[in-house]
Amino acid sequence: MTAKKPSEWRLATRLVRGGTKRSDFGETSEAIFMTSGFRYDAAEVAADRFAGTADGFTYSRLSNPTVAMFEERMALIEGLPVAKATATGMAAVNAALMCQLRAGDKVVGAKALFGSCRYILEQILPRFGITTELVTGSDNDAWTRAITPGTKTVFIETPANPTLDVVDLAHVCSAAHAVGATVIVDNVFATPLLQRPTDFGADIVVYSGTKHIDGQGRALGGVILCSEAFFEDHLNQYLRHTGPTMSPFNAWIMLKGLETLDLRVQRMCDNALKVANFLAESGKLERVLYPGRRDHPQHDLAMRQMKTGGSVITIDVPGGRDAAFRLLNALEIIDISNNLGDAKSLMTHPSSTTHRSLAEDARLELGIIEGTLRLSVGLEDSDDLIEDLEQAMSRISA
Ligand SMILES: *Cc1c(COP(=O)(O)O)cnc(C)c1O
Repeated sequence: MTAKKPSEWRLATRLVRGGTKRSDFGETSEAIFMTSGFRYDAAEVAADRFAGTADGFTYSRLSNPTVAMFEERMALIEGLPVAKATATGMAAVNAALMCQLRAGDKVVGAKALFGSCRYILEQILPRFGITTELVTGSDNDAWTRAITPGTKTVFIETPANPTLDVVDLAHVCSAAHAVGATVIVDNVFATPLLQRPTDFGADIVVYSGTKHIDGQGRALGGVILCSEAFFEDHLNQYLRHTGPTMSPFNAWIMLKGLETLDLRVQRMCDNALKVANFLAESGKLERVLYPGRRDHPQHDLAMRQMKTGGSVITIDVPGGRDAAFRLLNALEIIDISNNLGDAKSLMTHPSSTTHRSLAEDARLELGIIEGTLRLSVGLEDSDDLIEDLEQAMSRISA
């Protein structure tokens, strides 16, 4: 039997071993190459590397052995040829957009986006002569109308933060490709394990590694995945010269995170379904949104695109901000925090935190009301989480 290539390994094996390269010491855990530069045995070697005629590292803004291991592992997991790590998820989103856009281009996105993604589309890109149109992500006709021949790029987050709207990836990708636009999918909420955007036509996938990939609340990071052609035509030079590079130390943390990603995500999703069912059946909430439950307005689409409903639940508490704050302040196990995908369950009040920079009418349009709370379900025992929520919900009415 001939040895299998890493790309032929099954997913769990790729998560643990993909991209690993060992130094002469034969270390089992990937080494942290905490170095900014590299030395050359001869001036000719340096010249060849700079000319691109010899392989090898030159400077860690461009590439670093630990970061390269993380990138190769991510590429193997996603099934795309190129992965480039960035310092944060937002650096990945920004670079994926900026590297290909120029004045006169149009970008189409959904209104429901992670707050900073929406800020880039609405506030930053227009300053450079790029037009942005935002549509209701669940409305297929609205996407078709907005994606016109001048459209260069379509930006999608699904499920979207915080209301867990699902975008029909196949529909939007085919509308985009019909006018020659590229599609970027921010796949943070689904993780690479639950949803493969390229199966539905996406061209570029971005992650915040800060979320499930680290998954233990330790480090910021991001990654952009794309084709060789997109990398050569757009991304490579943009990243080299603007330098949103991931630190080797953070890359090492992300490598360790990937080793347990499928165990953690499975457990989080199991917990999330149990907690969502409890919340929905409690009768104490105005609304419980979880794509894995049949009462989610886009449950069927979510289940076509994702393996499970994910690890995030959004609820509306009756009684507005005061009631939502009373619930948060009564939590004993779940932390009040705006991160997500963490081993620890975290709850946040979007309208006063992650989405406070949106105008009130824009928030209401997205279904973010004063009683909305977002829960990122972690790895604790689901019964403890349910008991914590049960006692905290008893404080909803003053
Ligand atoms: C967190 C997040 C980001 C930004 O990632 P950072 O690592 O915080 O910069 C982008 N998109 C989504 C959907 C996120 O949840």
